[in-house]
Amino acid sequence: MPTAISHFIGGQLVAGTGPRHAPVFNPATGEETGRVALADAADVNTAVAAAKAVARDWALTPPLRRARILNAFLRIAEARTDELAALITAEHGKVLSDARGEIQRGLEVVEFATGIPQLLKGEVTENVGTRVDSHSLRQPLGVVAGITPFNFPVMVPMWMFPVALACGNCFVLKPSERDPSPALLVAAWLKEAGLPDGVFNVVHGDKEAVDALLHHPDIAAVSFVGSTPIARYIYATATANGKRAQCLGGAKNHMIVMPDADMDQAVDALMGAAYGSAGERCMAISVAVPVGEKTADALVARLIPKVRALKVGPGTDPDSEMGPLVTQVHRDKVSGYIDAGVAEGAELLVDGRGLSLQGYEGGYFLGGTLFDQVTPEMSIYKEEIFGPVLAITRAPDYATAARLINEHEFGNGTAIFTRDGDAAREFAHGIEVGMVGINVPIPVPMAFHSFGGWKASLFGDHHMHGPEGVRFYTRLKTITTRWPTGIRAGADFVMPTME
Ligand code: NAD
Repeated sequence: MPTAISHFIGGQLVAGTGPRHAPVFNPATGEETGRVALADAADVNTAVAAAKAVARDWALTPPLRRARILNAFLRIAEARTDELAALITAEHGKVLSDARGEIQRGLEVVEFATGIPQLLKGEVTENVGTRVDSHSLRQPLGVVAGITPFNFPVMVPMWMFPVALACGNCFVLKPSERDPSPALLVAAWLKEAGLPDGVFNVVHGDKEAVDALLHHPDIAAVSFVGSTPIARYIYATATANGKRAQCLGGAKNHMIVMPDADMDQAVDALMGAAYGSAGERCMAISVAVPVGEKTADALVARLIPKVRALKVGPGTDPDSEMGPLVTQVHRDKVSGYIDAGVAEGAELLVDGRGLSLQGYEGGYFLGGTLFDQVTPEMSIYKEEIFGPVLAITRAPDYATAARLINEHEFGNGTAIFTRDGDAAREFAHGIEVGMVGINVPIPVPMAFHSFGGWKASLFGDHHMHGPEGVRFYTRLKTITTRWPTGIRAGADFVMPTME
């Protein structure tokens, strides 16, 4: 019997009035384990009203007190990480160690946000004019919304809500309807940590719930992470409705392998970055660009046996290196890209299609897949596949390799493997991508830096978490002060200038 998955509004689990529900599956078995409520506009209105009712009190709560609640949440989440990781694996499918890693990266943003008293310190200038002082401060926006993808059901919400709450905002989270349960455990822990009811709410749903948030007059800002077409739509709609928006989209991350790179290190890096989490990471490397034919041949020779040896299995098996894809629809879509690659003339070196695991015949598994001779016109090069498929696109020299990256639609992450400082510096300086690794395959910035790509990977002006997150979730106010002894008699009709 599938479990009913409710909303979390005003500190309570709420079934909602929306008549629609969606199935939630265990991707390792194909079993329907849950039925998630899909919010309608009335459910969204209830959640936003619950947040608005407490927004003023939360904004007036001293930052240190807000930080202490986040600290208490951090301790609960650290002590019970395994419980949350099990929930991620049950609905997303990733291996448990990877689920624990995602939680840790998310909790690092909570740690960052506990420094909010320091982060919110403003600026003061004494005597901007004679006996006139100015200070600037940052105030919360009010009620803000987060709309998140399936691939990091805990970490991506944590890129958003810890900073939003620390800054004094109330939050409405709309998680992916494909793996909705981890958000509810996070909500319960926030409540247990002492967060007042209504400050953090979860509404489940799809486009209907998202549209209700985008048109709600009491939502001041929208943070989104997901695919590029939806990111583009959400950015356009939210900003047309006068909201602040930061919308992170899809990716096609390239890794250049220079002839002088340590080939074993580069191969290990590629294996983890391309096939970890079954390639369902926005920072996964999906294109390897070896420079020179000799480099390419050496890379391919080392990759083939490793891809063939990948241990694919249920996320709960400690021996599995890669779990299933999230849904049958997504597995079939990725498999369709492999068909397209073959049809377009790429050389299929390792084929992951048709994998069936004994005891898990209903699971959405796909083996690691490797293509060589992939060229820029092919759909498997241009489009985000979001699965365990690595393309090799050979380049004759560094300039060609860099041009491939700069001309690509997406600009989320990229990496270069080299021992050459000049090449590395040139790459860091000139590449048109938001997050860059030098001998680091997945350069996800730490919580105290900010996360975000360029080009079609981000719509908006602010990256997430770190200092950019604080800027996004606050607005600046500048106060100019003069006391009676400083005020000259008589009205002044000219533009004030420094006296
Ligand atoms: P998605 O775009 O399908 O869904 C993201 C969110 O948008 C979900 O909450 C979903 O319910 C909602 N949504 C879906 N269709 C909608 C519509 N028509 N109107 C309004 N809302 C809608 O993305 P996904 O498949 O859940 O996640 C994978 C994608 O997310 C990949 O493209 C990946 O690159 C991207 N991603 C990007 C980053 C990043 O940092 N740039 C991080 C993680 C994931």
